[in-house]
Amino acid sequence: MLALALTVSACDGGVHGVPGGSGVRDPFFPKAGNGGYDVTHYALTLGYAPAGRRLTGTAVITARATADLSAFDLDLAGLRVDSVTVDGKDALVSRTGQELTVRPHDDLGKGAVFRTTVRYAGAPRTLTDPDGSEEGWLPTADGALALGEPVGSMAWFPGNDHPSDKASYDLAVTVPKGLQAVSNGELTGSDDHDGRTTYHWRTAEPMASYLATLAIGHYTITRSTGPHGLPLLTAVDPEQAKASAGVLARLPEILAWEERTFGPYPFSSAGVIVDRPGDAGYALETQNRPVFPGAPETGTLVHELAHQWYGDSVTPRSWRDMWLNEGFATYADWLYQEEHGGRSAQQIFTGLYDDRDDDALWAFPPARPDGAAHVSDRPVYERGAMVLHKIRQQTGDRAFKALLRGWAAAHRHGGASTADFTAYVEKRAPGTDFTGIWKHWLYGDGRPDRP
Ligand SMILES: [Zn+2]
Repeated sequence: MLALALTVSACDGGVHGVPGGSGVRDPFFPKAGNGGYDVTHYALTLGYAPAGRRLTGTAVITARATADLSAFDLDLAGLRVDSVTVDGKDALVSRTGQELTVRPHDDLGKGAVFRTTVRYAGAPRTLTDPDGSEEGWLPTADGALALGEPVGSMAWFPGNDHPSDKASYDLAVTVPKGLQAVSNGELTGSDDHDGRTTYHWRTAEPMASYLATLAIGHYTITRSTGPHGLPLLTAVDPEQAKASAGVLARLPEILAWEERTFGPYPFSSAGVIVDRPGDAGYALETQNRPVFPGAPETGTLVHELAHQWYGDSVTPRSWRDMWLNEGFATYADWLYQEEHGGRSAQQIFTGLYDDRDDDALWAFPPARPDGAAHVSDRPVYERGAMVLHKIRQQTGDRAFKALLRGWAAAHRHGGASTADFTAYVEKRAPGTDFTGIWKHWLYGDGRPDRP
């Protein structure tokens, strides 16, 4: 049998693949991500001049084929593609919407590691999401800010733009001298040449594409250390320096509290990027270094840092699982308030439950949002947090805290779905019945009868 198989493939003269597909069947963003391969590393070499709003880029994408492939897609919104090679050989390309289809010179066998190089340029786009918020490439007063939740990274680099495919990153960004370029991970160096500066950033731990960021402009960059010597790097727009100083001084203390509550910090560095109010419409938990439009409130800082565990390290398998990000980060803030002299999580829960006029909170169940336009609505955040509070009531405080830490550890640097979560909780608390919580609080329509 084996000999026959070998003979057949030898007669065929090589692999005969099929196209990898234009999406990964995300229920809300069906074209996000692509089938047939798994990216392990992005090496991005970018240049940007804010004056002309012009980006030039070379993306070297290392991936492993998960099927025999004759072609595969990358996600890229806008920009001009100048050339694509696969393993050094010119590839054929075509574009339809956000799909850049690459037909390599030779078909790729399942399991093969291959390297795709895309050279591209142009004015990167600001994308408007189904809920009306803006992401992708956001021009700012002194530069630009790249934010990618849920599908904005395709506005500035080609890739597999879905949270189910995480990878490491190297980013070299060249900007006019006098400006800074700040990203995820660690700054490994910078060099000046011809009136420009190149900043080198490395993200060694797996990162979902929606968590990649790039902030170009004037920033005061401060390095310090957090708990157990964790390197911290903050980049603050000078206009926001005074307003940010107090809250950012608490960064080590908040990280230490979160480590006690959620377990070891999952990445090799931490920090923040503070831009000006209006540079973005929201704060975002970009990996290592969340972005804030203006000096953050303490609660917002607690929320975005909690995402480093819940969202960035344990990443949702699809956008329908968004409550695994937002319910946890919201509950982190409730716990922080409770343990720092504020209202208890029970008081916050009761306040929400008792407000009978608050229809928006009960518009849909946290694990079944009403489509792509609603993944950032309140049921995903606050009702998601209420699910966690119900679990806490059922298990008691000690076991609940162990669940929070255990969940972060079980899927560290990976991905997980809502079904993974309910199975995990049931496995860790075998004597406890969670059926009613799943049925009424997680998946049930409307306001449950009993708090
Ligand atoms: Zn959040």
